[in-house]
Amino acid sequence: MRRICVFAGSSPGGRPVYTEVAQALGCELAQRGLGLVYGGASRGLMGVVADAALAAGGEVIGVMPHGLFAHEVAHQGLTELFEVGSMHERKALMAQLSDGFIALPGGYGTCDELFEAVTWAQVGIHQKPVGLLEVHDYFATLLAFVAHASNEGFIPPAQTDLLLRETDPAALLDAFARYQSPADVTPPPTPPVLP
Ligand code: AMP
Repeated sequence: MRRICVFAGSSPGGRPVYTEVAQALGCELAQRGLGLVYGGASRGLMGVVADAALAAGGEVIGVMPHGLFAHEVAHQGLTELFEVGSMHERKALMAQLSDGFIALPGGYGTCDELFEAVTWAQVGIHQKPVGLLEVHDYFATLLAFVAHASNEGFIPPAQTDLLLRETDPAALLDAFARYQSPADVTPPPTPPVLP
């Protein structure tokens, strides 16, 4: 693995622990010699993880849609900043540049990016690991929804494992290093007959 894509809130969230974990992830990536790929913003948890990786000597690549975020300040200190034409181009380039995907706490944008990455794993567009860096049980309700969708016959039980989850950046990156994509993740589910 050379680079990891991190999806994270464009806001810092309401608890200091979100910032602390984002910093820890940025440091851990840099210490392992893994580059960071992310949305390119200077603010929110996105800016925090980028600043931490840069401060620890890491490579940080931002991918920002040109002119989309009028009030968003692109990070000026990155190793490289790509400007692209749309959100779709941004997600495609971030995926192309990365060997795995991590979601930190965030909002709609983070969830959109996370579910796209795991959907692409499910249909075999890529074989890269996708993980949640859990903070303060932030993702518990999202995982409960995934379990519900599986119980209701919309996600095959084996494919709920496509979303890795750890509370510690080192443990999550260790799991990424061990990750083996399921041999065949493409068949459609056979839904159970529900009572
Ligand atoms: P959200 O979780 O809704 O705050 O969105 C954050 C995610 O969506 C990041 O991973 C970005 O790639 C993208 N994104 C959403 N809003 C922005 C923004 N204002 N600046 C940069 N990236 C953003």
